[in-house]
Amino acid sequence: MYVDTIAAIATAPGEGGIGIVRLSGPEALPIALQIFRSGRSLRVPDPAQIESHRMYYGGIVDPADGNVVDEVMFVWMRAPRSYTREDVVEIHCHGGYVPVRAVQSLCLRHGARLAEPGEFTLRAFLNGRIDLSQAEAVAGIVTAQTGRSLDLAIGELRGRMTERLRPARDALVETLAFLDAAADFPDDEIPALDVDAALKRIVDVLDQVVASAETGLLYREGVQIAIVGRPNVGKSSLLNRLIGQERAIVTDIAGTTRDVVSETITLDGIPATLLDTAGITETADVVEAIGVERSRHALTTSALLIVVLDRSQPLTDADRQVLDLVDQRLDPAGVVYVLNKADLPARLDTDELPLPPGAPLVTLSTVTGAGMDELKHTLHDVAVGQSEAATRPALVTARQFDALRRAQEHAMAALEAREMGVPLDLLAVDVRAALYAVGEITGEHVGEAVLDEIFSRFCIGK
Ligand code: GDP
Repeated sequence: MYVDTIAAIATAPGEGGIGIVRLSGPEALPIALQIFRSGRSLRVPDPAQIESHRMYYGGIVDPADGNVVDEVMFVWMRAPRSYTREDVVEIHCHGGYVPVRAVQSLCLRHGARLAEPGEFTLRAFLNGRIDLSQAEAVAGIVTAQTGRSLDLAIGELRGRMTERLRPARDALVETLAFLDAAADFPDDEIPALDVDAALKRIVDVLDQVVASAETGLLYREGVQIAIVGRPNVGKSSLLNRLIGQERAIVTDIAGTTRDVVSETITLDGIPATLLDTAGITETADVVEAIGVERSRHALTTSALLIVVLDRSQPLTDADRQVLDLVDQRLDPAGVVYVLNKADLPARLDTDELPLPPGAPLVTLSTVTGAGMDELKHTLHDVAVGQSEAATRPALVTARQFDALRRAQEHAMAALEAREMGVPLDLLAVDVRAALYAVGEITGEHVGEAVLDEIFSRFCIGK
């Protein structure tokens, strides 16, 4: 099946201390030995002398003209003790990007094929070294935005998701076997199974996994926060304060109807994108002033809102309009209210504030910085607490989250059907569908198209 040998640069493009070219496949060692010369004297290596999992010092030489391309470290990892379970050779170049490119093209010229994006990991998966959720975790590590999401991705690489799902999967298999047997051999003695208890167990496990996935998703995909409020309450000042405490990365978020300038900060490990609805100047027309379109858009697409009020002024009509707009939001859970300018005498009557009961309210001053930590913790807690309603769901990936949700729905449907007294043989449909959905996460049931989709998201060389 996979008889050819692939090669690619495994390290990120650009200048680095070292750059690695990786080969995988049956011809990895013979190809590499055509261009590797060992030791300071650049001897032609004797293949019989090369040991697996040992680093060799030497150089890469173009056999066509004898030119030395780079000084390298060379390592061969004999199958199956390698990332792909195939023979793997890594050539660690010491130079910049140019020699790495040159080494890669020498490999290609001597019989290797340039790897497709994710092909090393695809081979690791196809050769049974890792399951699908682990393979997707590799993509997660490559793209992890914060240290915390990196931890989570590494956890997945170790198979945490498959491990978590195992009790549900086992119970589903057991239940399905029982239901099928009961349908096929109705007159035979079949060992009894408490189907209700099994289904409850399955639903419990899936509920837990979904909940943790929602939190994981938050760490991975982050949360979008919009700061809203009438002019002059201190939105820009708040934005700058939030950014000032963390080193800001200025990014353009594509995918919104038009690109909105945004800043990314970290809230206890959650990447948070702050939408700048603040740079709007004061005008007579308050609706225009809060930038209807921008604010409406931010209101609907952001999982979290910070509504800023000025505590040093009595509530104005403009404030009320903002609060009304916020009230019309579908999901009231993700709103944090801020009373700014706490360094000034209070003239806002907090009792008359038309806020939902129990709404999180933080008093702060962007001038002194008082209350900023409390705001960040509150944002973090609200984000985690309402992650179920977050606008962009996914577990480790959106694909896995979708499969997880389907598994949960089918398991729930089976449990409900059971409670309504539906005959056993009809339950099998939902149980089978739930099992199938679980299999999509671990890779037991995935089609070619899904695999292509997953692995094409990798960079070449992974
Ligand atoms: P925006 O229009 O809502 O973005 O408000 P700005 O951030 O531009 O602030 C409006 C005015 O309020 C500016 O003059 C700020 O210096 C001032 N301001 C903002 N936050 C505070 C605060 O916490 N205390 C005081 N005393 N003034 C503030």
